[in-house]
Amino acid sequence: MTEAAAPVGITVLIPAYNEAESLRELIPAVDAVLRPATARYEILVVDDGSTDGTSDVATELRAQYPQVGVLTLRRNFGKSAALNTGFHQARGAYVITMDADLQDDPNEIPGLIAALESGGYDLVSGWKRKRHDPITKTLPSRLFNRVTSWMTGIRLHDFNCGLKAYRREVVESIELYGEMHRYIPVLAHGEGFRIGEREVQHHPRRYGQSKFGSARFVNGFLDLLEVMFLAGGRRTPLHVFGRWGVGLLTLGGGINLYMLVVWVAEGKLRVRPLLLFGVILVILGIQFISMGLLAELIFAPAMQKRNYPLKAQLRPEGAPESVRGKEGE
Ligand code: UDP
Ligand code: MG
Repeated sequence: MTEAAAPVGITVLIPAYNEAESLRELIPAVDAVLRPATARYEILVVDDGSTDGTSDVATELRAQYPQVGVLTLRRNFGKSAALNTGFHQARGAYVITMDADLQDDPNEIPGLIAALESGGYDLVSGWKRKRHDPITKTLPSRLFNRVTSWMTGIRLHDFNCGLKAYRREVVESIELYGEMHRYIPVLAHGEGFRIGEREVQHHPRRYGQSKFGSARFVNGFLDLLEVMFLAGGRRTPLHVFGRWGVGLLTLGGGINLYMLVVWVAEGKLRVRPLLLFGVILVILGIQFISMGLLAELIFAPAMQKRNYPLKAQLRPEGAPESVRGKEGE
């Protein structure tokens, strides 16, 4: 489909926040892998508001490597924003993302693309089986991956691996913000794309330092809740909250009804813990339902405008590309 229309074969997308030293080595290394393989490639560096001259280094390298493009954000917006910016600009039929810090190995690129093609996947995620990171990072990461895999039913070992290969339809279909880059496979799976995995080499960080502190764990968990919604497809906020609300309301109503019967039978009202419990459940139930309703109203316009990605399309003779005309009409 769009692959034939893509003006470039491969886009390598590198989000970089204060990675000047690493880029000096990374860009030549990426170029050395791609050049013999294809003439149609581009290397997009997204400088995420660096203060160490990252985009100057990338611009400098551009003289020697004209396939390099540099997008410089006005300030540091985070890895998801950097990736999203690159996703919008990428022209390749295949898009590779990799970290700028030399932890991901450019020699893995051909293997990832081969896995996309031979496995019939739309996204192949790297798996840093042997990770070269401190234990404070690898241990929580293992937990994160287990929980995410369990909650989403997607069998991956390393959701947040920076090294991934995509067909361009995938990057056209997902929008990243906040710290959603951790859940790209979940979002893509939610759009019906096929997800694969491939083991990749990983190296210790040589220059600079990691950009994510311990807040990543709390944020990561909160994002999982959201992503479960977004990727659910059929699940709407009213259904999720509403189901709990109706359950609580029914239970609370039942308890209060029982209390009413006891009141009438005994002829006097007794404030027992059970009565309080019933009243609390009723209040909670109403709150859940109204919360779901509010969320639904806020969310509805986005859901109505949603594009459902097609796997294939055979148009009848003479039919225009889109029957509804241009988007937004
Ligand atoms: N990064 C970014 N913006 C940020 C933080 C990180 O573009 O606000 C980039 C960073 O330069 C690197 C990649 O995201 O290329 C992964 O970051 P890092 O190596 O710090 O993550 P870790 O390997 O520690 O998980
Ligand atoms: Mg890193």
